[in-house]
Amino acid sequence: MSVTIINGTQIAEDIKAEVALEVSQLQSQGIQPGLAVVLTGDDAASSAYVDMKARTCVKLGITSRKIVLPGSSTTQDVLEQVRKLNEDEAIDGILVQLPMPKQVAKHEVLEFIDPRKDVDGFHSSNLGSLLLGHEALVACTPMGVMEMLRRSGVEISGANAVVLGRSDDVGKPQAVLLMHANATVTICHSKTRHLADITRQADIVVAAMGRAAMLTRDYIKPGAVVMDVGTNKVSDRATVERLFGNDPARWQDFNKRGYIWVVDVDERSVMEVAGMLTPVPGGVGPMTIAILMRNTIKAARMRRGLPC
Ligand code: NAP
Repeated sequence: MSVTIINGTQIAEDIKAEVALEVSQLQSQGIQPGLAVVLTGDDAASSAYVDMKARTCVKLGITSRKIVLPGSSTTQDVLEQVRKLNEDEAIDGILVQLPMPKQVAKHEVLEFIDPRKDVDGFHSSNLGSLLLGHEALVACTPMGVMEMLRRSGVEISGANAVVLGRSDDVGKPQAVLLMHANATVTICHSKTRHLADITRQADIVVAAMGRAAMLTRDYIKPGAVVMDVGTNKVSDRATVERLFGNDPARWQDFNKRGYIWVVDVDERSVMEVAGMLTPVPGGVGPMTIAILMRNTIKAARMRRGLPC
């Protein structure tokens, strides 16, 4: 069976082009959308993500503000920053970059963001609205998966969908989105028994476990659509060799950085049976930023009572 690789990079570019158009329409009405990102500490990977988001904002005409707080910040320090942004009329979206240092109470901070500016969709008010099927700001990664499915022509309605993972930011919203799209949804987690028996029933599998290359072809029904959210750092040569043989691109990456990113699917094995598969790189990753940009525009509209 030949597998179709879903081009997340292209779909993300299409969405960003739509966002750029919407930004210019808002600007013509005198509205300049703005996104603020709060980074606490100096983690290099988080800082790189924040810079990437800022560059994308600039490209699309969205005002970008980066606030860097010291790694020694307390919960109160972060809350104070969020309070300022909640009250700032120039800011439509607030994103608190995760992870934060251990001493900062993540849930307290996320719940303090004005839900109307919660472009990550992590606030309980947005999660509740999503569950009820009301208009909401929805978490970027699961929404990105839905867009990839829709824009790749996958029939979601009536499909058996299995979501692997039940986290608040990926698994739960993903399952709810699929349910609202009329899929029959099963949520699996680390206590699920006979996992492969369940996933083999699925027309659509969304893997969000954070378990490197765990899903082999034995977990997948022939022809199934496999969306892989997992990102796992692998720095062990033997594992790279087992998963990718002598694939020159992987070894080039590994030799340059000392690790590679591996998804939850064993790509070489699953490719032999899946009907559609998200690649790495160029799968779900680029979609997350594109949806973040779209959420910022949505927040700008919702806050002003404009149709979304
Ligand atoms: P998380 O909070 O650690 O949740 C992982 C979930 O997977 C949990 O519900 C856990 O079950 C379940 N799980 C773990 N091992 C399992 C197993 N052997 N069988 C079945 N279920 C298992 O992670 P997350 O934040 O949802 O993220 C999931 C993955 O997606 C991570 O690799 C993360 O880096 C990646 N991610 C990628 C993007 C992107 O833009 N591409 C965005 C967000 C996250 P329990 O609940 O029982 O513990």
